[in-house]
Amino acid sequence: MTIPEIMKNRMCFSFEVFPPKEGQPLEPLLDTLDHLYAFKPDFISCTYGAGGTNAGRNVEICKAIKDSGATIPITHFTCIGNSKDKIRDELRNYLSLGVDHILALRGDFPKGSASTGGDFNYANELIAFIKEAFPEFSIAMAGDPEKHFEASSFDEDIAHLRIKQDAGADFIMTQLCHDVAHYEWWVEKIRKAHITLPVDVGIMPVLAKDPTIRMAVSNGSSIPRDLAEIIARYGDNPEDFKKAGMEYTVKQIHRFISAGIDGLHIYSLNKWADISEIVCAAGIR
Ligand code: FAD
Repeated sequence: MTIPEIMKNRMCFSFEVFPPKEGQPLEPLLDTLDHLYAFKPDFISCTYGAGGTNAGRNVEICKAIKDSGATIPITHFTCIGNSKDKIRDELRNYLSLGVDHILALRGDFPKGSASTGGDFNYANELIAFIKEAFPEFSIAMAGDPEKHFEASSFDEDIAHLRIKQDAGADFIMTQLCHDVAHYEWWVEKIRKAHITLPVDVGIMPVLAKDPTIRMAVSNGSSIPRDLAEIIARYGDNPEDFKKAGMEYTVKQIHRFISAGIDGLHIYSLNKWADISEIVCAAGIR
């Protein structure tokens, strides 16, 4: 069964991991994956380094997930520095390994550049290319409930989202969004724009002060009042912060599920112990 098929019937549940840096051992991540498999996720996605920096390691991780037989791997993939020929080769390789789900992204421009440096300028072009050349893939596209930081308005960003749907994407995976009320507003808005695809919501666990602030701000995402309060109250005490942050994350999961989402995707940050505690406390599995 494919992920879009699962989402037609019930809320899908998944994790995201990232490959270790070049030269770092793979074993800690393989161990994390073993722990995450215990929760029977519908899929585990693996990020793809900007400019293909750790693309080889991404392939190793996707292959390991596939070979485990435990769940479906989804590879992230970007346009950064990728020619059509290179994309064709890489996608053929994924398929040969049994990896047939892909999150098709534009990617962030390399520092100091205002272009992808590849054959495609936007994710919709990559999606159309995959749909045409490799129809075997189930294709996810990114969605930004708080608007992509480069777009000048929500209407403009949502019009571009619609172009990605029309190019052949099968479901949406969202950028982190701590503001559930705003997420609900956005879903209503995209539905009015005839974007009908299921939405898989990304949950960023709140475990430490600096990464929580950095990850929200770097994506142009907001920090709602209740999260700001945790940062203000416990910011100087990592242990208390983590405890309050994990309770906040569990609450967020329940709020999103109550909002009627099609999928819950937890950014694992490659940390199985904290993530297991959150999943168990949320009663998801
Ligand atoms: P696009 O959909 O192309 O949009 C980019 C910007 O251009 C937006 O402002 C949009 O409104 C505008 N736009 C889109 N189409 C057009 C058009 N046809 N004409 C004019 N303007 C247009 N990055 C990585 O490098 N590796 C990863 O593994 C990775 N994983 C991610 C996972 C998720 C779930 C998400 C949400 C993001 C991830 N990213 C990753 C980050 C992503 O690459 C960035 O957010 C990037 O800046 C935009 O990618 P996109 O696919 O949304 O781009």
